[in-house]
Amino acid sequence: MIEHVLSKFKELYPELIDIRRELHMYPEVGFKEVNTPKKIAEYLRNLDIEVQTGIGGNGVVGRIRGGKPGKVVALRADFDALPIQDEKEVDYRSKIPGVMHACGHDLHTAVLLGVAKVLNEVKDEIEGDVVLIHQFAEEIIPGGAKAMIEAGCLDGVDVIYGAHVMSHEPFGKVGISEGYMMAAGDTFEIEIFGKGGHGGMPHTTVDALLAGCQLVMSLQQIVSRRIDPNESAVVSVCSFNSGEASNVISDTAKITGTVRTFDENVRDQVEKTIETLVKTTCEGVGATSSYKYTRGYPSLKNDSNETKRIERLAKKIVDEDKVVHIPKITGMEDFSYYLKEVPGTFVFVGGGNPEINAIYPHHHPKFDVDERAIITIGQLFISAVFDYLNGTSIDT
Ligand code: MN
Repeated sequence: MIEHVLSKFKELYPELIDIRRELHMYPEVGFKEVNTPKKIAEYLRNLDIEVQTGIGGNGVVGRIRGGKPGKVVALRADFDALPIQDEKEVDYRSKIPGVMHACGHDLHTAVLLGVAKVLNEVKDEIEGDVVLIHQFAEEIIPGGAKAMIEAGCLDGVDVIYGAHVMSHEPFGKVGISEGYMMAAGDTFEIEIFGKGGHGGMPHTTVDALLAGCQLVMSLQQIVSRRIDPNESAVVSVCSFNSGEASNVISDTAKITGTVRTFDENVRDQVEKTIETLVKTTCEGVGATSSYKYTRGYPSLKNDSNETKRIERLAKKIVDEDKVVHIPKITGMEDFSYYLKEVPGTFVFVGGGNPEINAIYPHHHPKFDVDERAIITIGQLFISAVFDYLNGTSIDT
């Protein structure tokens, strides 16, 4: 029976709204978080929870030791904001010019603090430990997750759960996905060096702009002609800069873009194929080139058993028909790094609600979410902890 724990959490809702709104008013961007981790650590210390700060950078890790020995569950919430000017008409609008919680990480943090408070109150009932991972810098490559793992935040951890509130999914909905859920996101930068000259005398030049155009067209063929149709990939050219005058043949062209993949072999294949195309296209016209491929986060792959566990638990927390298997998406998340180390699952929780103007996409200046998602995520985390450690599910 864990209903008493779940209702304890629900009682915390007004306090957690206050915490979320306080974080919302004073956001800090990734790698520059100073006060946010301080507030988190202070909240946990006031509860007499063991806390370590400065983990991998600005990370905070708490640990609740259960009354009985057992396994170790980690729960993760990110806490960084974005360099966006808040344009919402609400009294908790960001007070920091040009910085805003436009992805809901303030809400994630409030949830995990509330979960910590409740689990700490009932720790004697817990058969094992709970590690609270408050992560910095999810929004900026290389992210905070990798550094926190290297600093040991997953040492001894058996399983991990994470959640993201989603404004484009209606409040009440829970989205799960077995296997691949989010893509690896990489970027590329190509520079072509030709030989400039008079627009009327092209034979005396090496046209970098033309080579660039040919290359852009060739890049379109990677997905359509090189990748196994059973796999998926995105290659998008997003910028092209070359030339300035109408009568001068350009000596350089710069092309940048993004690559999204799921399978690591496909990722390697795309990276190498772009390199080959850059080289051969430029050689063909007598130009030289440089190519830089920068890897972002790896793809996020959920453990099948843990996803089934969350699905079963979610169906007790929200209406059964609101728990849906969602198709994988080509956005990225550095929660993927944790899942490379230990089994676990990441879950999307709906926070969209037109009645309160929570209709804007993530990273939009008017982004907001239905705060009741706090309850959904918190209850999911708590029930996952008890289900995994104690084998105590809801209604048992
Ligand atoms: Mn996010």
